[in-house]
Amino acid sequence: MSTVPSPAETPQQTPPARTIFQKIAAREIPAQFVHEDGLCFAIRDISPQAPVHILVIPKQLVARVEQAGAGDAPLLGHLLLTAGKIAREQGLSDGFRLVVNNGRQAGETVPHLHVHLLGGRDFAWPPG
Ligand code: 5GP
Repeated sequence: MSTVPSPAETPQQTPPARTIFQKIAAREIPAQFVHEDGLCFAIRDISPQAPVHILVIPKQLVARVEQAGAGDAPLLGHLLLTAGKIAREQGLSDGFRLVVNNGRQAGETVPHLHVHLLGGRDFAWPPG
């Protein structure tokens, strides 16, 4: 019997040497880019959960919100402002949802902070 925990059982993922999002930023793994600037980039999610599902990702690796410090405040603010700008560009004038999953119980699967921008359909509240 294996004693190695499955990813779903791992309490909190440590980022690998380079995350999948760092490899995408370096164009080592293909993705559909919708935005890029000095601090962040945005790509279409490979498994979209809404007609518009875009990930806004900092170039600098921060694993998750709980690991961000006061010095990351401008970066975190930039991610939200960028998500809002992309939402406008995508025509989501009827509404959109921003989601940041932190840790296993929230469903985080990639240990590299990212903001999900979801739009183009109605969303339930409370979320599942
Ligand atoms: P999380 O579950 O960590 O909040 O979100 C990770 C997201 O990254 C998921 O929605 C997943 O579909 C997306 N994702 C994982 N690997 C890739 C990839 O290689 N390319 C793209 N475009 N999205 C990915």
